[in-house]
Amino acid sequence: MKEKQTMEPSREISCSAASRCGGCCYQGLSYRKQLAQKQKQAEKLLGKFGRVEPVTGMKEPLYYRNKVHSVFGRDKKGQIICGTYEENSHRIVTVEECLIEDQKSQQIIRTVRDLLPSFRIRVYDEDLGTGLLRHVLVRRGFTTGEIMVVLVTASPVFPSKNNFVKALRSACHGITTIVQNINSRRTSMVLGDRNVVLYGKGFIRDELCGHVFRISPASFYQVNPVQTEVLYRTAVSFAGLSGKEEVLDAYCGIGTIGITAAGKAAHVTGIELNPDAVRDAVTNAKENGIRNICFRRGDAGEYLQRIASDGKKPDVIFMDPPRSGSTKAFLSAACSIRPSRIVYISCNPETLARDLTYLTGHGYSVGKIQPVDMFPYTGSLETVCLLSNTQK
Ligand code: SAH
Repeated sequence: MKEKQTMEPSREISCSAASRCGGCCYQGLSYRKQLAQKQKQAEKLLGKFGRVEPVTGMKEPLYYRNKVHSVFGRDKKGQIICGTYEENSHRIVTVEECLIEDQKSQQIIRTVRDLLPSFRIRVYDEDLGTGLLRHVLVRRGFTTGEIMVVLVTASPVFPSKNNFVKALRSACHGITTIVQNINSRRTSMVLGDRNVVLYGKGFIRDELCGHVFRISPASFYQVNPVQTEVLYRTAVSFAGLSGKEEVLDAYCGIGTIGITAAGKAAHVTGIELNPDAVRDAVTNAKENGIRNICFRRGDAGEYLQRIASDGKKPDVIFMDPPRSGSTKAFLSAACSIRPSRIVYISCNPETLARDLTYLTGHGYSVGKIQPVDMFPYTGSLETVCLLSNTQK
């Protein structure tokens, strides 16, 4: 492993694969300049709703990703390669060392690649649909040190898997669980539906804002845990909880925001589509000794519509939808329930602007807009936005 690079905010660093990989559009730009660009972008899209606070950056914006994914294939000479898909194609760009991904996780992926030939494990060929290993996903709990390796295979039959697992564990110390995920579909989805635990518990734990979270292979978990704490603390402080509120954590994933807020609320309900994430959320609440929280599985919009007509109405809503933003069903139900405050956590300022237009057109005013840089070097920007009900 190369020595860890440190980072001055004004230093410019660059990655040799940047132009082919396409993941980091701000390569070659100092971190200070990146933050200035993101501030401009946030102001352009969100400035019409109110003052945009200065974006909160990272002290050390390198190797921050706790989740590393690599696709496996062969180059023209037949050599096994792993890396990332070139932008808008299925050609693999090999990345020997990525500057934003966790270094230990990258080393594990390279070790998997180097072990394959001696175990005669064939990599998957997308065109022919032959071969076994398709992807490797590594997740590391930065606080706990626990490491999960997910080997995504095209078929359940994995010859000499026990010996392979043994060899991987002895080559890379610190792996706490190894899972085989079976994905036989000919799509670009990374994970299939079936997991077989080959070693350990089948999940890892990590700590955020003083709580411990269990993370399964398919559950969503923020990839930059350092900035996630900043994000969650901002969101919870925007909610202005007094201990009396009924709170909804919509698009709750494994329950992280709701669990972080539960100590300041009367009761929290989390709603989430992914069944694995809901299962993790229930366990997380139990393991953290939090009793005033419950979780529902389902579509957040449908759930909100249901409680708008009949059910316990939240005083405060946290909403953290995927990149595509929220839906008309969710937003219209939220406006009919009329919580005092909505805290919108967004990973896409464009869909946030669209949804803010709806909410501000239906009696909500924007109080605060705080961008948080969760993804240095990339073009993504996370924002926390506080909305208050103006029709009391
Ligand atoms: N708040 C969580 C997860 C945010 S990511 C965290 O900070 O970790 C967005 C989450 O929304 C994902 O877990 C995804 O599975 C979930 N999701 C996507 N569409 C949904 C829908 N229609 N209804 C409910 N949850 C949904």
